[in-house]
Amino acid sequence: MKRAIYPGSFDPITFGHLDIIKRASGLCDELIIGVLNNKQKNPLFSTTERVNMIRELTENLGNVSVESFEGLTVDFARAKNAQVIIRGLRAVTDFENEIQLAQSNKVQYPEIETLFMTTSLQYSYLSSTVAKEFASYGGDISLFVPSEIIPLIERKFQDKEK
Ligand code: ADP
Repeated sequence: MKRAIYPGSFDPITFGHLDIIKRASGLCDELIIGVLNNKQKNPLFSTTERVNMIRELTENLGNVSVESFEGLTVDFARAKNAQVIIRGLRAVTDFENEIQLAQSNKVQYPEIETLFMTTSLQYSYLSSTVAKEFASYGGDISLFVPSEIIPLIERKFQDKEK
């Protein structure tokens, strides 16, 4: 039984994340998406909102579940009895930070393997930050995030203007 976690901020989830989720869910028996409740960052969406959005968008994937977590990814992996951490790689700029994280996690929890999945070409430029930047100026984000969550993002920026 191979259980993997896919941790991240997902603020908000993009087509890039969803692509990794779909592909990773085919590689393991169970995939737990870990939504980081990071108090240092000032997220656009609350942790509960992010969890709910991802649940709705992944309900067709039978072996995928979504949970929030606080603190270290390795502690979440250990608590969930996961053997694999999935991370996505877009460009060399991701690499330096990701290898450092993966190696620190390996030192802390030697049973864990970090598996890097390369982004699909059409999403290699895409990040939650890009989606938020476009949305903040009223731009078209239909190529960045699923249509279901576009109104939720737009509402956040409308509320900010008030
Ligand atoms: P974090 O704050 O942990 O970087 P993110 O929500 O930004 O969280 O990303 C979660 C994971 O998804 C990271 O491994 C990131 O590299 C990966 N990821 C983000 N966008 C893409 C994309 N367009 N294609 C592939 N992987 C991606």
